[in-house]
Amino acid sequence: MTIHVVGTDEGKDYLNGNVILDALCALNQKFAHANLQFFIKDDFNYINNSLLFVHDKVTFPKVPALFAKYNVSGTVNIYFVRDPMGACGYNYMPGGKSMGIVLSNDCTNGKDANWAHEMGHYLSLPHTFMAGKWKRRILPNLPPCYQNGGGS
Ligand SMILES: [Zn+2]
Repeated sequence: MTIHVVGTDEGKDYLNGNVILDALCALNQKFAHANLQFFIKDDFNYINNSLLFVHDKVTFPKVPALFAKYNVSGTVNIYFVRDPMGACGYNYMPGGKSMGIVLSNDCTNGKDANWAHEMGHYLSLPHTFMAGKWKRRILPNLPPCYQNGGGS
């Protein structure tokens, strides 16, 4: 994965890197039972772009060009922003091929399934029931995160 940490045009309000590592740990915990683990390629890529940092349905048409500009090919491109169209996140997949997973800073932490949810969509998993959210099954006896290859 390539981790894009988006801030304002002035370079402010990046999500803290430790929060991202905690969230990565939670992501890998949730996929461990499927024998899937995700790794960060190279350093975080810091982007100063207020349009990407906060976008909505009106400004979204300008966003795919930014994916095209910043994406690193051969990796899953993850963008952390303040407000991805009023959601906790989305996976933008025109024509069935992902151009990027965009996650809300406010929904990113070391316990919730937000990143795992969008990664599931990246892997072409649909929602499992009608309610519009994945059923969040509690998995028993997960190993502690820091023995599990994630985090620092
Ligand atoms: Zn979903």
